[in-house]
Amino acid sequence: MSRTQTSEALFARARQIVPGGVNSPVRAFNSVGGTPRFMASGQGPYITDVDGNRYVDLVCSWGPMILGHRHPAVVEAVERAVASGFSYGTATRGEVELAEELVSRVAPVEKVRLVSSGTEATMSAVRLARGFTGRSKVIKFAGCYHGHVDALLASAGSGVATFGLPDTPGVTGASAADTIVLPYNDLAAVEEAFAAAEIACVITEACPANMGVVPPRDGFNARLRELCTANGALLIVDEVLTGFRVSPAGWYGLDPVDADLMTFGKVMGGGLPAAAFGGRADVMANLAPEGPVYQAGTLSGNPLACAAGLATLRALDAEAYARVDAAALKVGDLAAEALTKAGVPHRLQRAGSLFSIFFTDTEVTSFAEAKTQNTAAFTAFFHSMLDQGVYLPPSAYEAWFLSASHDDEALGLVAEALPAAAEAAA
Ligand code: PLP
Repeated sequence: MSRTQTSEALFARARQIVPGGVNSPVRAFNSVGGTPRFMASGQGPYITDVDGNRYVDLVCSWGPMILGHRHPAVVEAVERAVASGFSYGTATRGEVELAEELVSRVAPVEKVRLVSSGTEATMSAVRLARGFTGRSKVIKFAGCYHGHVDALLASAGSGVATFGLPDTPGVTGASAADTIVLPYNDLAAVEEAFAAAEIACVITEACPANMGVVPPRDGFNARLRELCTANGALLIVDEVLTGFRVSPAGWYGLDPVDADLMTFGKVMGGGLPAAAFGGRADVMANLAPEGPVYQAGTLSGNPLACAAGLATLRALDAEAYARVDAAALKVGDLAAEALTKAGVPHRLQRAGSLFSIFFTDTEVTSFAEAKTQNTAAFTAFFHSMLDQGVYLPPSAYEAWFLSASHDDEALGLVAEALPAAAEAAA
């Protein structure tokens, strides 16, 4: 009997009726092969699949579960919200409190609008920037992922990187025509683009982590700020992944460059669908119903999502951040050590508590460099870890996510699994 027979059966059923059997591509294990695990429950740093196999979770729902699964304060807040009602399509107190929490943490965010996904946040921010400037062209960087917004899918990282799609069919030439894709960390290319065209906005991940972790070179974000200001363009800093993870104010807390607009998601929903975009009050004033730029959502500011997000942000005190940071530092060190011992070429790249391991031995500063890694070695490493009860992101192009609940016991299990996984990758 297989250890994963129930996952296998569910996957077979799912494939009959759901494209690829999954509701988000990377979950299908396409790039690593094998049976994707169907999860049934989570507690602290562990997730358990439908066959009863338990894993140390190093994905944490791709970021949101920064406190670990079923943190008591979040469970209590959601249970309280459930007892009152699910959704009204009206304004609620929780939305005001969550918006206040965001504004109080991130200085450039004077006004904020809640939405339900990071994709909606970036899509809306770009629309607002175009509406505000009256211009069309958007600069984005290769390897930066901003969700599946048509205009932003050009040379995106994350799932798109995994699938090796330069673009995706279905995005029309017209909707991509106004997107200028530049190599990450290349300021000369940005200067040239500004010289050649009128730009509505530059959108960048605060610190890219969707092609693996590729930190901005010193001063990169600050120079983008200067170039946008000098050319009448808006700077949109996407903190969907970094927001409230790498510090109480996200990447802004580490690299305080004032964006005109910022986007958030993941952690701010605590595992339920909540996201946001916000920024300069005079720019945000252009949004309906105050201004002419339309944007809306049936479930925007959903009461359960707001309750989970608020409880998560409020539980993220200095001690919780210290635990996330320490766990990330430890796992990165342990993995690098095991790979070094096994003689596997690798490169650990860190940015605050974000990190990823590239299976290559040279520094990675751009998407082109990220794509030179040995993904076969990653696949062998991934499967060995999985078999030993450690759930890594099923792609070589993703960051590993830790939580405040990753205690010595969970980290000990990761440490035990690493040597054999590193040997498998050798
Ligand atoms: N922006 C960044 C930086 C992201 O990492 C993601 C998702 O991974 C998104 C936007 C899209 O968010 P969502 O998947 O909630 O639509």
